[in-house]
Amino acid sequence: MASTAEQLREPDILRSYLRALARTGGAGDEDLGGGRQRRVCAHCGERAVFTLEAGGTWYRCTHCGRYA
Ligand SMILES: [Zn+2]
Repeated sequence: MASTAEQLREPDILRSYLRALARTGGAGDEDLGGGRQRRVCAHCGERAVFTLEAGGTWYRCTHCGRYA
């Protein structure tokens, strides 16, 4: 039985991942020095700058403020 376009619709999380991938060109993590990195946030999906916090243990997303 053939699938309709409705049945083939991507899950939201995959769609947002693919959007982020297209926006960033699929680049990997980028070390900016001084305890900062640029990478795709698992919470907000943005390719954002992360700063090292909490005694040098965790990186925080400067876009949504979550640790990752
Ligand atoms: Zn974020």
